Amino acid sequence: MSEQVIETRLPGKSADGKQRPAGSADRVFTTISSLLGNLDEIAQSCVSSRLKGEEQVQNKLAQVRLGMASSLFLALRTKHSPTAAHGLRVAMVCSSWSVLMNLDEKEHDELEVAALLHDIGKIGVADHILQKPGKLSDEELLAMGRSREYTREILTACCASQELLDTVYYAPAWYDGRNREFDRCREQLPLGARMLAIADAFDSMTTDHIYRRAFSRERAMNELFEHADTQFDPNLVKQFDYYLRSNHEKLNGLVARRWLQDLGPSGTQHFWQLSPTLSSGRSAMSGSLFHEHLLDTMHDGVVFVDAGLRIMKWNRAIELLTGITAASVEQQLWDPAILQLRDEHFKLITPERCPVVQAIHDGTSSYKRVLVSDGQCEKISIDACVSPVLGADGAICGATLLLQDASSRISLEERLKTLNEKASQDGLTGVANRAEFDRAHRRWVALHLERGLPYSLIICDLDLFKRINDTYGHQAGDEALIAFAALLRKYCRGGDMVARYGGEEFVMLCSDCDNAAAAGRAETIREAWSRQPHSMLNGKCLTASFGVTELQAGDTGETMLRRADRALLQAKSEGRNTVVRIGGGMTGRRDKEARLKRWLFWWRSSPGQHLLQRCVVTVVPLQLAAEKLRGFVADHAAEILEINDNHVVLEITGQNLPMMRRSSDRPTPFLVELDLEEMQADTEARQAATEVRTVVRVTIRPKRQRDRRRNGADERARQLFVSLKSYLMAQDYVEPRR
Ligand code: GH3
Ligand code: MG
Ligand code: MG
Repeated sequence: MSEQVIETRLPGKSADGKQRPAGSADRVFTTISSLLGNLDEIAQSCVSSRLKGEEQVQNKLAQVRLGMASSLFLALRTKHSPTAAHGLRVAMVCSSWSVLMNLDEKEHDELEVAALLHDIGKIGVADHILQKPGKLSDEELLAMGRSREYTREILTACCASQELLDTVYYAPAWYDGRNREFDRCREQLPLGARMLAIADAFDSMTTDHIYRRAFSRERAMNELFEHADTQFDPNLVKQFDYYLRSNHEKLNGLVARRWLQDLGPSGTQHFWQLSPTLSSGRSAMSGSLFHEHLLDTMHDGVVFVDAGLRIMKWNRAIELLTGITAASVEQQLWDPAILQLRDEHFKLITPERCPVVQAIHDGTSSYKRVLVSDGQCEKISIDACVSPVLGADGAICGATLLLQDASSRISLEERLKTLNEKASQDGLTGVANRAEFDRAHRRWVALHLERGLPYSLIICDLDLFKRINDTYGHQAGDEALIAFAALLRKYCRGGDMVARYGGEEFVMLCSDCDNAAAAGRAETIREAWSRQPHSMLNGKCLTASFGVTELQAGDTGETMLRRADRALLQAKSEGRNTVVRIGGGMTGRRDKEARLKRWLFWWRSSPGQHLLQRCVVTVVPLQLAAEKLRGFVADHAAEILEINDNHVVLEITGQNLPMMRRSSDRPTPFLVELDLEEMQADTEARQAATEVRTVVRVTIRPKRQRDRRRNGADERARQLFVSLKSYLMAQDYVEPRR
C-alpha cells in the first residue's frame, strides 16, 4: 500500500507534538493511533459519515496485513465495527508484544493474523444481539457463544495454517484447563493462544462498552493478575505487565513499519487457500474465502464479481432479499440493473456510477444507502458496502458487494422524520426544540440511572447577546444563533443531542459521558466559538458561557437541569466566556443488587411514622455542608419551613421526584428534617488531627399521614434521600453509642 496515502491525510506529528522525519516509525504509529482512535467514532457515526478518509486508510491497513483475507475483516467491520476495531487493537498489541518476547517471524505472523480475525464469527450473530445495550438473555448469550464456532468454521474453510487455526481455537481456553471443552491446558496450549487470551481480555476491559465503562489500565492489569494461574498463563501475565511498562510506543512503531512498509501482499497470502486462478472459473471458489461456510452464516447479502465483472458468487441471503436465484445470475456479467439499484433520489444507478464497477476499475471502497427491488416490485432500503479484492500480486482480482437490509432502520428514521420533524425541531436553527429536549432529557435521566451510566448536560448561553441585536439588528442576531447551533452540532457525537432551550440558550445532552469529559467538550466549544469571526457582525467574534453537570444518584430531569442552570449562572457571574461544572456525578453508584440490599435494609430499619430515618457523614465543615444543602434546596424547589440552630425542616412536593410511573399519581408532599452536627474525626484514625466532618441526621416523612401508605411513597422518599446524599457528597454513617 502506499504510505503517501496516509501521510497526506494525517498530520506528521507524534503524540508529543514534535515534527518527526517523514517515514519514521513513530510517524507511522501516530497515523495508526489516530486511525484506531477514529474507529470508535466510526462505530457511532451515522451512515453518511462512514466513508471518512481514515476509514479508507484502515481498509488499506487490513488489506496489507490480511491480504486476501481482508474481505473477512471488512465484512466484520460492516457488521459490527467496534468488534473489528477491537481486533485491530489486539493485533497491534500482540504484534508489538511479540517483538519484546522475541517470537520468531512465523509465530509473529500467525499471532497478528489470529488476533485480527479472532472474533470473525460475530458475523453470524444477529444485529439485535450484537447491538443490544442491556444485559443479554440466556438465549442471546447462547447465540453469542456460537460465534466461536462460526469463527472456527469460517477460518477452517479458508485458512491453510493449522498453527493459526490453533491459536484462534485455543485462545478462549483457561490456562488451568478448567473449561473442559478444550483438550489442552497449561504449556500444551499454543504460546500465541495464551498471549492472545491476555491481550484480548486486556483490550476488552480497557474499552468502553455500552453495558460497562472502561476499566483503567491499572485495574485491568490487576484483574489479569487476579486470574493468573487459573484463566491466564501467570508468566505471560508478568511479561505483559513488563511490556506495558516498557517503551511500547517504540515497539508499536516497529509494528507499524512492518505492516505498512515491509509486508507486501505476497507475504500474507500463504495462510489462505484462495486459488490464484480465482478469476478463471467457478471451481476456484470452492475452498476459497467465499466458501459456503462463510456465506451461509451471514445474514447479509454478498455478491462477488471477478475482475471482468463476472458474477462468481451470489449468496443465499441475497437470494432471500431479492428473490433472484444464484443459478440465474452466476457467471453472468454484473449490471446494477439486475438489482434495479437506485440511489437515494430513486434514480437508477447506471454502470458508470456503479460502486462495484468503480471498485474494479480504480480500487475504491464505498458505502452508501441504495434501493433494490425485492422481487415483488417493492423497493427495499439497503446499505451497500463495496470493496475491491486484491490478488496475490496485489492487483485487483474482483470486488465484494455486501448488502445489509436497512429497511427497519429506514422506516424508523422516516417515521421519526415525518412525525417529529415539525413537532421537535427549532424553526430557526434546525436543532431540537425545547419540547423535544424535555422529552429526551427525562427519558435519558431514567435510562442512564437504570443502567448506571454517566450522562452529562451542557447548558450554554450567548454572552451579552442583546447588545448584538441592538447593534447589528435582529437578522444578524438570528444568523449568529444559526452559526452557534451549527458549531454545537459539529461537536456532537453520535447519540448526543443539541437543543435550543429558548432565546439564545442551548443545551447539549451528552450520553455516556462524565462531568470531566463534558466540561472538556464545553471548553473546546467555548474556545472555538470565541475565535469564530462573523461576517454579518463585521468580522467580530462572540462568546458564550457554559454550565456543566453530570447525572448523580437521586436526580430527576428537573434537579439535574437546575444544577446545570446554577453552573451557568455562576459562569455568567464569573465574568462570562467560561465553563463552570458542578455536581459529584455518578461516583457513588452501585450495582442493582447492592441497591436492592440497601433498600431492604432501609425498609426493615425504618418502621413508624417516618418513611426513612438515616444518618450520613460528609467530610466537610458545617458551613460547607450548609452550602451544599443550598443546592439541594434550590434544585428540588424545596421550601424551608424552619431553621433553628442546626435543625432544618424542608417541604418538598413529590412533583420533582422520579419514578412517577402512573399518571394518576398525585404528588405526595414530603417533610425532610435535617440535624447537622460538626465534629472532629475519630482521633484514633490516622491523619485525623485536622479533619472536620459534618454528621447529618435525616428523617423523611410524608406531610400528610394518610399518604404514608400511598403506592410508591417509600420509594420516592428513598430517592430523595439518595439525592440529598449526592448533594452533600455524604456516606452512610453509623453513630457510635453514647
Ligand atoms: P447575558 O450574557 O447575561 O446572557 O446577556 P444577554 O444580553 O445575552 O441576555 P439577555 O437575557 O438580557 O438577552 C437575551 C437576548 O437574546 C434578548 C433577545 O433580544 C435575544 N434573543 C432571544 N431570542 C432571539 C432570537 O430568536 N433571535 C435574535 N436575533 N435574538 C434573540
Ligand atoms: Mg445571553
Ligand atoms: Mg439568556
